[in-house]
Formats: sequence, structure tokens, C-alpha cells
Amino acid sequence: MKRLAILGSTGSIGAQTLEIVRQNPDLQVAALAAGSNVELLEKQVREFQPSLAVMWSEKAASDLKQRLSDMEIKVAWGMEGLIEAAVLKEAEVLVTAIVGMIGIRPTIAAIEAGKTIALANKETLVCAGHLIMPLAGEKKVPILPVDSEHSAIFQSMQGEPKHRISKILLTASGGPFRGKTRAELQNILPKDALKHPNWNMGRKITIDSATLVNKGLEVIEAKWLFDMPPAMIQVVVHPQSVIHSMVEYADGGIMAQLGTPDMKLPIAYALFYPDRRPLAGKRLDFYELSQITFEKPDLETFRGLKLAYAAAQTGGSMPTVLNAANERAVELFLNGKISFLQIAELIEACMAAHTVIPNPSVEEILSVEQETYENIGKQLGTGKTWLRGGIDQV
Ligand code: NDP
Repeated sequence: MKRLAILGSTGSIGAQTLEIVRQNPDLQVAALAAGSNVELLEKQVREFQPSLAVMWSEKAASDLKQRLSDMEIKVAWGMEGLIEAAVLKEAEVLVTAIVGMIGIRPTIAAIEAGKTIALANKETLVCAGHLIMPLAGEKKVPILPVDSEHSAIFQSMQGEPKHRISKILLTASGGPFRGKTRAELQNILPKDALKHPNWNMGRKITIDSATLVNKGLEVIEAKWLFDMPPAMIQVVVHPQSVIHSMVEYADGGIMAQLGTPDMKLPIAYALFYPDRRPLAGKRLDFYELSQITFEKPDLETFRGLKLAYAAAQTGGSMPTVLNAANERAVELFLNGKISFLQIAELIEACMAAHTVIPNPSVEEILSVEQETYENIGKQLGTGKTWLRGGIDQV
């Protein structure tokens, strides 16, 4: 029996993790945590019977507690609650399916408590990979990737000599705006950017996929997970999302993982590694698959990817600036306050204004996050007129 604590259980990855739990009686849920979706968390608690449920706000937690008054369950809230779930004695595996840098502290706490990490929350590694990976090494805690590309890379490394890797080939669908020019992206609305051609995901990562910032975050995630310099991680646009990523070795051989786009495969692979459990679903049909194509990413139109490479190269606190600026800019875009292209502009402005801290502690990462948010406020206060509504509405 494997018992899980799931942070972000009401989201896209969280809900798919629970589908896998439903299909595998040797998985059990010990803790569930969500942000504000009390209704869904209540349903999940009733079905999966964890001993701990966590909401982000005290108000949401007391609402949940009231709804669950007929059950014996502890309800906690806030960062303390997330950490309590992360270190819960009854759980062996922490699934980090929360969105954003908020995952840093619970992930560190779980590693310190010796939990295996099934990691979807890429923002955590982007900002704190230099703390998390050495700590996981020291505590001998496996960090198993859930992100489909990283899972594909991980699968392509099984049984291979790591010191013979010459390149990681990180595939990208290119998102809904592949092939478009900057001029064509001027008036993109959130509803257009939320339509991903191949994957059905949460809102933030869907926008990140449209800007290619997601691919940039994945380059940094791969750097930490596989201990590879960014220069050895090449992004290849592959619109059909059939090859989920590849690894090239010193003899020129390339190992790849292929499949239909279904996040349940990488989630299950992380939960049952090194086993491969049966998983229902559509299979690739090579007779139907008429062509698979590849392109170089357009780094000028999709500047977010270029900025992420720069942040990865600089290291230290720069990836935190990239990530925090992006988190805030995506929120502003989704609320109709800035234009699509301004997401990358804001990231670039924040990165240009930042003085790098070489090896930031968690406290420094959080203060850089704060500084970046303040910087965005200042950028928005420069008097520029934004596409929708103007800065006075921000
Ligand atoms: P969603 O937006 O669908 O879900 C996010 C989850 O986090 C929800 O359960 C949400 O709760 C919860 N949450 C948000 N804020 C808080 C908070 N302050 N405290 C507690 N819980 C919180 O995101 P995804 O599932 O799409 O993505 C999750 C992570 O996985 C991201 O880092 C993403 O980059 C990564 N990822 C996602 C993939 C995908 O296919 N979706 C693929 C690869 C990686 P609530 O519902 O209450 O708001």
C-alpha cells in the first residue's frame, strides 16, 4: 500500500492523480490540499477519506470543516497546513500539484521528512532547484518528474549511462500561436490563449504554453532534475505532441518516449516507478499517424523562452525573477489588464532591473519574489498606455 499526500488535488494534475488512485486499490490518500475550491475538496474528502484536508484561507478551511462536521478529519489552512500535509506521518509520497512558488516550502519540508516527491510543480524547482536537489541527494529522497517532458527524459535515461548523454531534446507543441508574428499577437485575448491545441491543463500553464515561458521553465526544471547545463538542453518544436522528449547519447543514438498526450501516463509512472501499471486510453496508431514534424522555436516572437535561457544561464536568483514576474504578468493578462506581448516585456524589465543573488536561501527567494511584484507595480506605473483599459485599472 502506498499512501499519498496531494497538494493541489482540485486542479488538473491533482484530479488526474485521483483518477489513478481510483483505478489502483494499492494507492491510498492520506492528505488533500487545495486553494479555494471547497466544494470539490469536500467531494474528494468524502470519496478518498484522507485524515487531513487543507485549504489556503482560514475562511475556506472553516467552511470545509463545517461541511465535513459528520466526519472525523482534521482541517488545516495556510502554509502551515500545506507543510503539515507535506510531512504527514501516514504518507510516503508527496504529489506536488500545486501551482506556483508556493510549493517551495512544503516540498523542502517533505524532503527533510524523507518523503518521495512526485513533482509537477515546476515553479518550485525553477526557483529553488539549487536547494532542493542537493537536499534530496543528502536525504536520499527520489524526486520523480510528473511533467510529461521530464518524465519522457527520465524514461529515456533508464538503463543508460548518464555520463554518455550528449544532449536533452525537450519537445514543445509550440502552443496555439505557433507560426504567428508579433503583429498578429498584439490583440490576443485570454480566451484565445487558453485554447491549447493538444493538452487540457490548468489556466496558468496554458498561458505559459502560449507564450513558451512554460518551455523555458521546463529548461530550468530539466537543468536541475538531470544536472545538465542549459546549453545541453535543446528545445525542438514538435506540433503533434507525439514524442514527449528525447535524450541523445555520445554514439549519436537517441532514446525517446512517445505516446498520446495523456498526463495520466507520467503521473502513474512517477507513482509506480520503476513499474509500469496498465493504463486504459487511446494508443498511438502508426498507420494513422501520417506525419510528425519538427521546427526551431521562434525566440524573437516568443521572447519568454529566450529570457528563460538567459535566466537559466545566469542562475542564482534570476530564475525567481523570471518566474515571479511571469506569475504576476499571467494573472494581469488573464484579468484583462495587460496584453499578451506585455507578459514577456514585464519579465524582461524585471530581469534587467535585478541584481543577482548567487545562491539565494528560501528567505531570499521569497524576498526576490516580493521585490519583483513591487517592480511590476512600478513598471505599470510608468504611464505607458496598455492595450486594454490602461494602467489606471490595474
Ligand atoms: P491547476 O490550476 O489546474 O490547479 C492548481 C491546484 O493548486 C488547484 O488544486 C488549486 O486549488 C491549488 N492551489 C492554488 N493555489 C493554492 C494555494 N495557495 N494553496 C493550496 N492550493 C492551491 O494547475 P495544474 O494542475 O495545471 O498545474 C499544477 C502544477 O503542475 C503547475 O506547477 C504546472 O506547471 C504543473 N504541470 C501541469 C501540467 C498539466 O497538464 N496541467 C503538466 C505539467 C506540469 P483550487 O482549485 O482550490 O484553486
